Amino acid sequence: MKLQISNLSKTYPNGTRALDHVNLEIQTGMFGLLGPNGAGKSTLMRTLATLQMPDTGSIQLGGLNVLTQKKEVRQILGYLPQEFGVYPKVSAERLLDHLAVLKGITDKSSRKKLVQALLEKTNLYDVRKKNLGGFSGGMKQRFGIAQALLTRPKLIIVDEPTAGLDPAERNRFHNLLSELGEEAVVILSTHIVDDVKELCTSMAIINHGKILMHGNPLEAIAEVEGKVWKKRIHKTELADYEKAYQVISNMLIAGQPEIHVLSDSMPGEGFSPTEADLEDVYFSYIHAASTAEPAVSA
Ligand code: ADP
Repeated sequence: MKLQISNLSKTYPNGTRALDHVNLEIQTGMFGLLGPNGAGKSTLMRTLATLQMPDTGSIQLGGLNVLTQKKEVRQILGYLPQEFGVYPKVSAERLLDHLAVLKGITDKSSRKKLVQALLEKTNLYDVRKKNLGGFSGGMKQRFGIAQALLTRPKLIIVDEPTAGLDPAERNRFHNLLSELGEEAVVILSTHIVDDVKELCTSMAIINHGKILMHGNPLEAIAEVEGKVWKKRIHKTELADYEKAYQVISNMLIAGQPEIHVLSDSMPGEGFSPTEADLEDVYFSYIHAASTAEPAVSA
């Protein structure tokens, strides 16, 4: 199964251009869509999930035209939105059973088996009688996966899944997701670079509705390898460094900023080389787009 997104554009009535000629080809496996808040990720996810129409462009999933064959696409789609709205006073087991009926699984005994299997898979079997209102963020996300799996989806869309999860919950969620990627196209939309680094074999970076990079995370890291330099500076020096160098990121370490600079050679005194990371790749593309310079001088 292959997902082909061609020339997709969307401008909201208030003039915000959320998608700007997006082209992506996505194969079976885990695909990470990385971008800052407001980049256009949710707009793209909702469009892929047949919930919203673009102004122009086309989306092909295997033999299906996603924009015109919505009903057929929904049968093989699992969509896990940012906030999975749950009915607080219903138990996990009852709601899952109810959703299964809505998906057309009318045979009672096969439905029971399926619901039980999904509760086990998502590690919710022990809390199946508990009302969803009492679930933690991670449990709700796993419930979201369980409902997304009711129909053995071929396309799974997961929008900003790990915001607000504690590390153990996040880990459990990641393991579930990577299992799904073995037989479906799984698109993970996130602003968290580590989520993509840990899970995805293919990725894209989006900002202001434009795809800035599309490829393999490890190859992208290899491209900036040897070109990332770090230096610890004083807070008051940051603006000057940003003027003088291609500062791709700055983070506080024990209260003091450490900057990463992209440069083919040693940028100056006090800099030392540092191992490139996906975070460096991400910020180099975001930085390059904001200053309209090429991301990496190859
Ligand atoms: P992301 O998911 O990456 O945060 P979104 O797709 O939600 O990005 O938003 C992209 C841009 O479109 C943002 O500037 C956002 O404010 C704007 N936007 C999103 N939805 C709407 C809407 N329904 N009406 C107007 N603007 C919107």
